[in-house]
Amino acid sequence: MDCIFCKIIAGEIPADVVYEDDQILVFRDLAPQAPAHVLIVPKRHIASLDALDGSSEDRELLGYLMGKVREIAGQLELSEGYRLVCNCGEYGQQTVQHLHFHLLGKRQMAWPPG
Ligand code: 5GP
Ligand code: ZN
Repeated sequence: MDCIFCKIIAGEIPADVVYEDDQILVFRDLAPQAPAHVLIVPKRHIASLDALDGSSEDRELLGYLMGKVREIAGQLELSEGYRLVCNCGEYGQQTVQHLHFHLLGKRQMAWPPG
């Protein structure tokens, strides 16, 4: 499959990995939008948030991933807060079609998003 994140997960393309276990990979974004900017990526290929089918496997995986955010934020020393973003589809400006969550921190964020 021609998926850049699957290739990173398979070790075929290098990445600056900050956390890995059997279900998720976390690595630094190539074009960081904040002093701390990592991508939290499920190892199983899921195209987007909109491709989740509500199965128990999907719910378990996403629950697991969300439960890990606090730990990853702690590892990155984001004690002053952070933002978790999931871009979905064309209007959401998703550019890589493999589900991922941006974890951004170490600067003041603004609202509304662009
Ligand atoms: P999206 O726009 O789909 O929400 O996020 C995709 C993110 O992946 C972008 O922030 C982009 O900088 C990042 N990205 C794209 N290709 C690579 C890559 O090969 N390596 C890394 N580390 N990040 C990538
Ligand atoms: Zn993939």
